[in-house]
Amino acid sequence: MSKKLLYNLLAVLVLLSLVLTGCGGAGGSEAATGGDEQKLVGISMPTKTSTRWISDGESMVKSFEELGYATDLQFADNDIPNQIAQIENMVTKGADVLVIAAIDGSTLSDVLGKAKEAGVLVIAYDRLISNTENVDYYATFDNFGVGVIQGSQIIEGLDLENQAGPFNVELFGGSPDDTNAFYFYDGAMSVLQPYIDEGKLVVQSGQTGMDVVGTLRWDGAVAQSRMENLLSANYTDKRVDAVLSPYDGLSRGIIAALRGVGYGSADQPWPVITGQDAEVASVKAMIAGEQTYTVFKDTRELAAQTAKMVDQALKGETVDINDTETYNNGVKVVPSYLLTPYSVDLSNYEELLVGSGYISADDLK
Ligand code: BGC
Repeated sequence: MSKKLLYNLLAVLVLLSLVLTGCGGAGGSEAATGGDEQKLVGISMPTKTSTRWISDGESMVKSFEELGYATDLQFADNDIPNQIAQIENMVTKGADVLVIAAIDGSTLSDVLGKAKEAGVLVIAYDRLISNTENVDYYATFDNFGVGVIQGSQIIEGLDLENQAGPFNVELFGGSPDDTNAFYFYDGAMSVLQPYIDEGKLVVQSGQTGMDVVGTLRWDGAVAQSRMENLLSANYTDKRVDAVLSPYDGLSRGIIAALRGVGYGSADQPWPVITGQDAEVASVKAMIAGEQTYTVFKDTRELAAQTAKMVDQALKGETVDINDTETYNNGVKVVPSYLLTPYSVDLSNYEELLVGSGYISADDLK
């Protein structure tokens, strides 16, 4: 055998042994952190129908991968059994961590029982998980604060401090199976109720309280049909001046109902309409003068904060929390980290949303 052939043969053998022993690097099982086996984070998001959850998912994959974790991201199509099955599957696959934005926060007790038995760290993401002790931390925004912003937007939009009124307002709430919906509503009503009591704001339909104004699964079509009914039953000879909407997807349904009866014209201008999430479609609606406000919650920050908390918990370090009082899930107060939400209108969307890179200027064209 020639020397050259022998060298080639040896080179092939070395390469083969590297591949077989998995030392080739790609897909390696070493975590970037510390040389332990790479940990797997199961990320369970509720739906893709709202763009925020897509951003949350993408940012979380990025944040966790930067810290050396492997990820398994799943979206549950707003279907509860589907979400439970996806989480169960993550546990079976050996996930070390679950990060969950629940569709219905009260439906996960069984599957989280199994997760705990398997020693999995459980983080409630954005939405509280209730009726279980098997949730370790909660990473979210100041949800009551979101509602306060939305209520204050109505006061500002109507210039209620300077105008005598009375003004007509209708109220919408989020999904009653999402505890956030109650925090948003309560926050908003903490601002609006005094004006309602005073008679400066009038709810012509008389519909107040989450049991009547809630919108199951945050469904824009449901909000649209409720708004159509409110308009035909109460506003054939009156004008609605403001609509409290807790989420951009609902606001767009509400706008469609209003447009259907002639709002958005010179003699019937749009009412003040709130929202949440700074979705591209709603920022465009704001630029078009249809929606007045939204609330910006930087999902990149929430993802990064969540990854940081997980990393601290797994390393046995002190976990960064800033609230140990607000979020009682029926079994325990879940230690939480609350991020700050921001009010957005025409005057600051460029700075807050485009300037921060959350939305590109091109997307708004
Ligand atoms: C989130 C909101 C979102 C809503 C609908 C809530 O739990 O906090 O940001 O608008 O769900 O997806």
